[in-house]
Amino acid sequence: MPWPEADRYARRVEEPLIERMRAYGETIFAEMTRLAVETDSVNLGQGFPDTDGPRALLENASRNILEGVNQYPPGPGRLELRRAVSRYRSRHYGLDFDPESEVYVTVGATGGIAASLSALVEPGDEVIVFEPMYDSYAAMISLAGGVRRPVALRHEAEGGRFTFDPAELRAAITPRTRLIMINTPHNPTGAVFTYAELEEIAKLCREHDLIAITDEVYEFLTFDDREHVSPATLPGMRERTLSISSVGKMFAVTGWKIGWVTGPEPLVRAVRTVNQFLTFSANGALQLAIADAIDNEGVWVQRQRLELQGKRDRLAEGLRGAGFDVNVCEGTYFLMADIRPLGYVDGEDLARALPREAGVAAVPAKVFYDHREEGRHLMRFAFCKKDDVLDEAVGRLKRWGTAEG
Ligand code: PMP
Ligand code: GLN
Repeated sequence: MPWPEADRYARRVEEPLIERMRAYGETIFAEMTRLAVETDSVNLGQGFPDTDGPRALLENASRNILEGVNQYPPGPGRLELRRAVSRYRSRHYGLDFDPESEVYVTVGATGGIAASLSALVEPGDEVIVFEPMYDSYAAMISLAGGVRRPVALRHEAEGGRFTFDPAELRAAITPRTRLIMINTPHNPTGAVFTYAELEEIAKLCREHDLIAITDEVYEFLTFDDREHVSPATLPGMRERTLSISSVGKMFAVTGWKIGWVTGPEPLVRAVRTVNQFLTFSANGALQLAIADAIDNEGVWVQRQRLELQGKRDRLAEGLRGAGFDVNVCEGTYFLMADIRPLGYVDGEDLARALPREAGVAAVPAKVFYDHREEGRHLMRFAFCKKDDVLDEAVGRLKRWGTAEG
């Protein structure tokens, strides 16, 4: 007689993934990069620069490895890096964090997001997220057993900025709301939240005693003299905010996967408790080099910002020339383009076809929304590429558009 549970156990092997993660397949970035490689396309999908970070940073990292910085760093990170992070948070935002207890180094911002959400979200807790949202938020909230409450960022008007309706945000809060995720500068819309917008959010955090997790990986990539406002600087926010950053964007080394979390001691301690069992620590040789770069490479960061601003304008003009309606971003290195003027309605279909048809890869914005209809007509193009690469992409899109039309 068969064991009564046999069926269930058999399925455990054939379909082993836990139920709450089954909605998540391959990430859109991996899928589009693979498609770009297969079709020899210009890859404006996954956001990674095609030039390296500051030379001194690269040399220091190599030297550290050769000189023997090759064993485990302390779990919370090398103190040199924690001190450098504390200094720049103070220099740029006037916020003081104790390097010993209020700064914690993670495996990229992704590691910081995963550890923070795992540490703070109980099963059934609700998390407010602005959509479109970076893909790891949804997955990590699900893994923690939390529930997403998306609030839309919408285009104000033709060519306008993306913003949210404060009434909609307020209406999303329930007695189960535990925290709000804020991503500014925002991927994929390129919006840089204003002080007034952040104050709307802060007001609700104070009123309902909510925690904020802020993803600030693009903090130094803002354009047209716009300044990034770190949400922890708003009244009453320092004591309830975990701010997450990454070296990947700051110094154009996305493959290094070092990030850091800053916040009040109790929140950072919660992250530390979880993260010591997730990754224990992050690459030590790189941490030392990054500490030095944070203290000494302000000019490089400023130059990167200006160069990217030029690339933004170059790609925006090119995409318009190819028939897209383009929203000029305020920060990040992404442009959102409306495909409807070209006669298309679904960005996901077009993103899958474009590499083969035009030799250009981009990312459909739709996948960053729970309410997929909201982003159906939008595609995200990365402009952190050499000028000739951007020009090649535009040339290909124009030829494709002409052939199509
Ligand atoms: N948050 C946002 C908004 C991002 O765009 C990215 C991609 N860099 C990350 C987090 C992940 O950063 P990291 O590569 O440091 O894990
Ligand atoms: N942050 C990058 C982007 O938005 C991709 C990171 C990844 O591949 N997961 O394009």
